Amino acid sequence: MQNQYVALYDYVGRTPEDLTVRAGDKLQVLNKNRVGWWFARALTGISADERGYIPANHVAPVDSIEAEPWYFPDTQRADAEKMLLAEGNSQGTFLIRQCGSDKGHFALSGKLQPPLSTQPVGHFSKLAGSWESQTLQTDPTEWCVQCLTKEFKTVKDLVEEYHSVVAGGFPVLLGKPCAKLGAPATHGLSYNTVDQWEIPRNSITQGRKLGEGNFGEVYEGLWNGISRVAVKSLRPGSMEIKDMVREAQLMKRLHHDKLIQLYAVCTMEEPVLIVTEFMKHGSLLDYLKKDMGKSLSLSDQINMATQVASGMAYLEEQNYIHRDLAARNVLVGENNTCKVADFGLARVFKNENEVYAARPGCLFPVKWTALEGLMYNEFSIKSDVWSFGILLYEIITFGLEPYPGIHNFKMMELLLQGYRMPRPPNCPSICIES
Ligand code: AMP
Repeated sequence: MQNQYVALYDYVGRTPEDLTVRAGDKLQVLNKNRVGWWFARALTGISADERGYIPANHVAPVDSIEAEPWYFPDTQRADAEKMLLAEGNSQGTFLIRQCGSDKGHFALSGKLQPPLSTQPVGHFSKLAGSWESQTLQTDPTEWCVQCLTKEFKTVKDLVEEYHSVVAGGFPVLLGKPCAKLGAPATHGLSYNTVDQWEIPRNSITQGRKLGEGNFGEVYEGLWNGISRVAVKSLRPGSMEIKDMVREAQLMKRLHHDKLIQLYAVCTMEEPVLIVTEFMKHGSLLDYLKKDMGKSLSLSDQINMATQVASGMAYLEEQNYIHRDLAARNVLVGENNTCKVADFGLARVFKNENEVYAARPGCLFPVKWTALEGLMYNEFSIKSDVWSFGILLYEIITFGLEPYPGIHNFKMMELLLQGYRMPRPPNCPSICIES
């Protein structure tokens, strides 16, 4: 049978036309015409023989590496550590991830315990690729087996062997695969909001207030009584509806794991509502300030910065500039997951050298803005990089205000004289992370 897929995550149908599936259920995909949503027939599980829509990013072809419970394709080393160190994982719990940007190579990360290891997580790289050298290279901070002693046709063969033989530098048998974190955000709320993203206001049940921004209040909400969402309600008269709709249109076209996903809008009457992915812990700024280092370590801070960088790299690929990157505009979910939000001021730019000139009289966040933005109203992906630098300062200082004790005007004067913020006291001068 062709087009057989396996569900990677549970999915509870949100509309009567959806299929409800459990991770591991098999499906036959019948139609892939809709972006982000496929029409399928369940072959096994509670919906066996039923037909309906499923989110395309919740399934993988049967027998592909993506269908393996231990395969975590877009997982960085720091994320792997976080997941493996979660409560309940015993020695030998493992996952396989792609090794950095090197698509052909994989790394095995596994949970270890003393006396086998002083490091709680071991990383073994280059599972596939070059096999010539048998050298075991170890550096003082981690185990890193450059090449293994045996060649396997597939990563799956290797995993199967390591379940029964201690080999390749990993000092114990591989145990159970690491549990996967929550499912990725779906492409819109359902198959029919992808093109038709204006939704009826009464399909949203408003819950508790989450916060308040420049343009109005943000609430927790339920769509169709099932899907938890965040609802941004535009304060009537505080902003042009067309500006808000433009923000929504920008967000709608962007799909990345580290960017807040826009689901739908209600623009037919005021207040205009923008419905987005819900993030449990709210803004990164509040999250950092609340923690002050109690539970967040330096590696968590680096991990958060890396996530923002990855979302911003995608924005650059899409020829967008954010223009208001700051900890207040990054949201935090489960397990320190960070996503970049608020593209309200973003503008499309056509090529690398083109810059966006802000409208006269437009307010911008002075301490986050690059000199060329402050001086000439010029914004580009390079000025986003400047703001990212200020965001790094916020992350490392647990949300302190940048340029402490210096007023905006003085700050500009100092910057023009070549002054740059010094390294904060708790920030290491170098950080080696491979
Ligand atoms: P904003 O209007 O985007 O600046 O949001 C104001 C506040 O609402 C933020 O600082 C967050 O605390 C909260 N908030 C905004 N969007 C979300 C979301 N998607 N999930 C959870 N909380 C949010």
